[in-house]
Amino acid sequence: MWLRNWTEEPAATDIALTFAGSLGWGALASVMLRPVIRDASRHALLVALAVLVALGYGHCYNVVNSLGVWHRHLLPAWLATFGLLTAGIACLPALVAVRLTAWLRNAAVTVIAWQLVAALPVLWADVTHAVAPHPAAASAATAGSSGSAASRPDVYYLIVDGYARGDVLRAVHQFDNGEFLDALRQRGFFVASQARANYAQTRLSLPASLNMDYLPPLPTTNEYEPHHAELRVLRKYGRVLRRFRQQGYRYRHVGSAHFRRAADADEELYLGNGDGSYRNAFLQTTLLGPLVGKLAGLSRGNPADVHEFQFKAIAQQKTVDGPLFTFAHICCPHPPYVYGRHGRLPQPVGDDDANSSLYVEQLQYLNGRVLELIDAIDRTSGPGAVIVLQADHGSASLGMDQTPSAEQLFERMSIFSAYRVPEATRQELYPTITPVNSFRVLFNGLFGDNWPLLPDESHYSTYQRPFEFTDARAEAGRERGAEE
Ligand SMILES: [Zn+2]
Repeated sequence: MWLRNWTEEPAATDIALTFAGSLGWGALASVMLRPVIRDASRHALLVALAVLVALGYGHCYNVVNSLGVWHRHLLPAWLATFGLLTAGIACLPALVAVRLTAWLRNAAVTVIAWQLVAALPVLWADVTHAVAPHPAAASAATAGSSGSAASRPDVYYLIVDGYARGDVLRAVHQFDNGEFLDALRQRGFFVASQARANYAQTRLSLPASLNMDYLPPLPTTNEYEPHHAELRVLRKYGRVLRRFRQQGYRYRHVGSAHFRRAADADEELYLGNGDGSYRNAFLQTTLLGPLVGKLAGLSRGNPADVHEFQFKAIAQQKTVDGPLFTFAHICCPHPPYVYGRHGRLPQPVGDDDANSSLYVEQLQYLNGRVLELIDAIDRTSGPGAVIVLQADHGSASLGMDQTPSAEQLFERMSIFSAYRVPEATRQELYPTITPVNSFRVLFNGLFGDNWPLLPDESHYSTYQRPFEFTDARAEAGRERGAEE
């Protein structure tokens, strides 16, 4: 499980806890079963069964739950099967028990070895983070060596996850966000009123925007895992970051629950104990799953803690003079809903994209915090600081079908996107800009680079089939009603 979640960077303490928990349960089962069964092979089989029963329950539940089976059906059946298997093992002839134990041991070793081999590319990419330089990168960047680093403005790239475009808020969520967008304009922002996402989900969208390019052709399989290494390297060690470093910038990474760490950052800021989602995901797959589900509010860390930490950390005082590039992925207004329009809720309520009214309340509160954040950034970096506020994709109250409706494409692929840049750079921005072009325009303006603009494409896909794309340009491209 740790290897599978490697790219999401679970906290070391969570990994240790889940690992210790599994081992502890195995040891406890072993001690408890010893007086009952003295024969070593049968004892070993029973311990293995106990571990399987406790740790495999949630995986089985996840499979059958999609068929309409609930805990109240599965749990008794699961325990009855355990009882039958226990009786079966107790009756096994000694020789069969010995052979079965040996076979299970070999199978376990094989599975672990196979997982390690499968994970090697991910681990290797993480260690070396070698990204082939883009052929155009060198030539585009050569022009931009004028001016000293000290004169360059600080740059903040702040992702507000799932933040919908103004016309989507009006047409789909029945909310007029004009007051906030005007407040941004008064603070010197250019609001790209027809901005679209390049991809429909965070894990595809951020690697693209942080590389100023569409994703390279990926192998045909439709699962994330084979592509994790590549996507992660693109996100963490992308071209945007390298260009800033070449220009003498320091890198401040403000961690989120999803992308907690960036060990190579000059200022790596993250909430020490994380949000416990890895630990929780692990518990959900065990026999304790039904209980954990009930206690979720207690056992899961509150995402609002992470947001609050980020609001403080993004604009905290610089430790060293010189230009700073800050990246933060704020998982808000994306559910779970932790804010009402007037402030933090006592407990997160719901995790449902379809709940428009909770989504809008959370967004309204976020708006106020964003304006405060801009003031805080100005105190830290001065009013000349460059700020890009951008959603990675839109909201999803209408759902995300494999064959999406025009309305679903409009909602998911239309994004909030706002830039505060020097006036000359602002002239190069345009209403339909997509994130692959954000830093192309920015670098051309700030550093005198020559990045050609790419066609603004929008590739929709679902979480089930992330690499099966639908072109969403037409649906998300047209703005509903006048924005400007
Ligand atoms: Zn997202």
